Amino acid sequence: MKVSTFGHSSLGLPITAFEFEGPGPEVMILGGVHGDEYEGVVATEGILEKLIQKNPYRLNLTVVPRLNPDGVLFKTRGNGKGVDLNRNLPTKDWSPEAKTPRYFPGPAAGSEPENQALMSYLERKAPRLIISLHSWNPVLNINGDCRPEAEVIAQLTGYKIDDDIGYPTPGCLGTYAGLERKSPTLTYEIQRGQEVPDILRLHVPAVLEALKITQERLK
Ligand SMILES: [Zn+2]
Repeated sequence: MKVSTFGHSSLGLPITAFEFEGPGPEVMILGGVHGDEYEGVVATEGILEKLIQKNPYRLNLTVVPRLNPDGVLFKTRGNGKGVDLNRNLPTKDWSPEAKTPRYFPGPAAGSEPENQALMSYLERKAPRLIISLHSWNPVLNINGDCRPEAEVIAQLTGYKIDDDIGYPTPGCLGTYAGLERKSPTLTYEIQRGQEVPDILRLHVPAVLEALKITQERLK
């Protein structure tokens, strides 16, 4: 495993990446885009723990458990400047408007350093799959070709698969990476408020099983 600094937050905190090299395609596991969604951070760190213990994959895996370390520290959705990183990416539908301050998209598309680090990574590595772990009502939202992985997770968790979350999300990673680039993105919404042991028991193995499908499917 290689540990590196993926980038820095708006407050200058380091964003750490953990890389597991393999001959297969690049896959990203991402957590903590929204700092107040601890469930996704716990799940991503649980996956990291398992990979450090034993990595059976030929994939090239990049794990970033806390893309938004400011938000994780202060338990806020946005980064240190109050920007919702999942409304700030420079998608074709990016808009400076926000319904409420909670979804503040930032002063300009792609303005935030956390997203600039993510955009640079996407450009460099062109991952063939991104699993981004959030929390809300349970749902597996797919953008791009990642339904087989979502189906495995759905079987193990009972979560439903959706390719349209039901409301517009301009500037989000699913659109930016999954639809506008060739990096299929599975946005995994864990049940908000789920207890840590339950997250580790249910969602960590579900993602690890899904990666087996990725390994078979993408060579
Ligand atoms: Zn979220």
